[in-house]
Amino acid sequence: MNASECIFCKIVAREISSKIVYEDEKIIAIEDINPAAPLHILLIPKQHIASLNEVEEQDAGILGHIQLTASRIAKKKGISKKGYRVVNNCGVWGGQTIAHLHYHLLGGREMAWPPG
Ligand code: AMP
Ligand code: ZN
Repeated sequence: MNASECIFCKIVAREISSKIVYEDEKIIAIEDINPAAPLHILLIPKQHIASLNEVEEQDAGILGHIQLTASRIAKKKGISKKGYRVVNNCGVWGGQTIAHLHYHLLGGREMAWPPG
């Protein structure tokens, strides 16, 4: 899939609507359309990177920024004390369904381990 057909690139460009929780020049965070937990937010770099398989040294800043933002959103949403999960699904066996790098922030209920 190229970037012009990508759902998350379209969300970044406001061609598809979404519930935006946070945005800055590098990333956007939106509510997941099909939540798997009481709080389910997707953190998405604005740059089209297909998956964690494609990241390079130059992407280290954005990866760190996503984690810091997940931590801040978790605090702001009141889930940090009890805890939460940040997940990246990579590739077919990882369960990735949208080929634009994103991290799931899941909270508001106790998580099971190992994941399915
Ligand atoms: P993954 O399976 O890791 O690729 O995650 C893709 C996630 O994107 C799933 O949790 C979907 O529910 C979510 N999703 C798909 N389309 C949209 C959309 N238009 N707005 C918000 N979330 C979406
Ligand atoms: Zn994209």
